[in-house]
Amino acid sequence: MTAAVVPNYISEFCRRCGRSLRASSSVTRGYGPTCVSYLHEAREAADLTDFHPWQADKASELIETCGLVPTSHPEVFRSVSSDGSRAYLSTAEGCTCKAGQYRVPCYHRAGVAMMRATRRLRRARRPVR
Ligand SMILES: [Zn+2]
Ligand SMILES: [Zn+2]
Repeated sequence: MTAAVVPNYISEFCRRCGRSLRASSSVTRGYGPTCVSYLHEAREAADLTDFHPWQADKASELIETCGLVPTSHPEVFRSVSSDGSRAYLSTAEGCTCKAGQYRVPCYHRAGVAMMRATRRLRRARRPVR
């Protein structure tokens, strides 16, 4: 067995659809293979015009490291800071992080926009073009 980098959050269930994960690579990632492909598509599908490209990068990273966790409210996500010490509540319109308090678009919100876009992808499962 090779020593793998263990992320802060290990989930046996997909963070997006809640199905149980079989492959250890999926468990490490926190998403099943289908949902991972959705996440990649989401970046294209989401309206990220308010955000800088680096924020979109950070948002992808946040999602892929399971740093954006759904809450019981469908529009609210918990964003975990990169060192895991802090968590913010984020929606597509607002965030409790420092930038969010000044109403500056932050990458947490970009992440929520991307997560919401994955839901649209699920509903409209046909090619755009
Ligand atoms: Zn899934
Ligand atoms: Zn934020």
